[in-house]
Amino acid sequence: MLDSIAPTQPGLSDRLAGIGMAASAATTDFARDLAASGIQIIALSSGEPDFPTPDHAIDAGFAAARAGDTKYPAQSGNLALKKAVQRKFQRENGLDYALDEILISNGAKQIIFNALMATCNAGDEVVIPSPYWISYADMARVAAATPVLVPCGPSDSFRPRPDRIESAITQRTKWLFLNFPNNPTGAVCSLADLQAIAEVMLRHPHVWILTDDMYEHLVFDDRAFRTIAEVEPRLRDRVLTVNGASKAYAMTGWRVGYCGGPRRLISTMVNMQGQSTSGVSSVGQAAAAAALDGPQNLLAERRAIYQERRDMVVAALNATPGVVCHLPEGAFYAFPDITACLGRTTPAGTRLDTDADFAAALLREQHVGVVHGAAYGLPGYLRISFAAETEILREGCARIQEFCRALT
Ligand code: PLP
Repeated sequence: MLDSIAPTQPGLSDRLAGIGMAASAATTDFARDLAASGIQIIALSSGEPDFPTPDHAIDAGFAAARAGDTKYPAQSGNLALKKAVQRKFQRENGLDYALDEILISNGAKQIIFNALMATCNAGDEVVIPSPYWISYADMARVAAATPVLVPCGPSDSFRPRPDRIESAITQRTKWLFLNFPNNPTGAVCSLADLQAIAEVMLRHPHVWILTDDMYEHLVFDDRAFRTIAEVEPRLRDRVLTVNGASKAYAMTGWRVGYCGGPRRLISTMVNMQGQSTSGVSSVGQAAAAAALDGPQNLLAERRAIYQERRDMVVAALNATPGVVCHLPEGAFYAFPDITACLGRTTPAGTRLDTDADFAAALLREQHVGVVHGAAYGLPGYLRISFAAETEILREGCARIQEFCRALT
């Protein structure tokens, strides 16, 4: 149920052998099925803001459709949105990208996919600090590359150590991926962290760097967000700065992601996109442009709400027997260590040997959907999304406490 891995089958491509639905999506689907059968589920498995898309973005999408903006869009993105992205990078990141250094795709996910497909050959390696967002490794495999994981565990505050990054780099390394604030750990890299990583990368000029800044606006406790192309301008022509409307503006369903990067990389990515989806829904692009150019106060307002929820969830988890949870510095996930619960048995008689057993039993017995840490490269943990209403989170935490208290 939680790991749906596609086997190699006659008549089907080897490219997707061993690549299955992401555990977060599988859990969310299973929770949806249980909900359809009348069971009330507390779904804390998906990484999706519970807030609505801002009205001015919806209005802009509607107005664009009414005004006849319903034809095939430009493959690299419509001019109005590319200009809005250009302004965003200048305003928030101090980065100047020309319009042909910007690409709009169907979510940041397609940006990353385009980047890997545009650059990787069989046997190339993609260095990924781990824990990591599930899709990086699978997308690298689809692009015939090999993911190389760099562990960054609790003793490193879940931040990548520059020496470990350097040891992972070989002549076959095509990319280093960075994702801070991180999904799933919430770790945020400081300016000094990024400078130290940049020092390493300056010594390895054959490696591209992808920074996935999706959670840029979800940085707590007044920490500053920094991105590597701004921190080290000498790397600018090797960095792909990836972002999108999904998390910041609660626009997951509109499917708009964007990036800035060197022209030769962007033009190859446009070529890749042209062979798959062409461009991005014109209505979605109009809505995203309005979100980027419109009032930005909602970002701070929502960040404050997420921070309150984080504090509540982390306190409740740390009051749960067998659970230890660090304070995430950003994003909207708690990532507690549940190793002390393993080896124990639930009231229904399920022995919890792994974090996947824990997540499956929690869903069956307490109807709370979370994702097991192994799906993000770190067994013994759970990912709990706090992008949900406070009352739902309170109830979810109460059920997790009840579940853990009842273990024998
Ligand atoms: N990058 C990270 C780290 C994410 O967590 C997600 C979504 O969960 C994405 C990218 C994809 O975002 P989009 O909706 O723009 O495809």
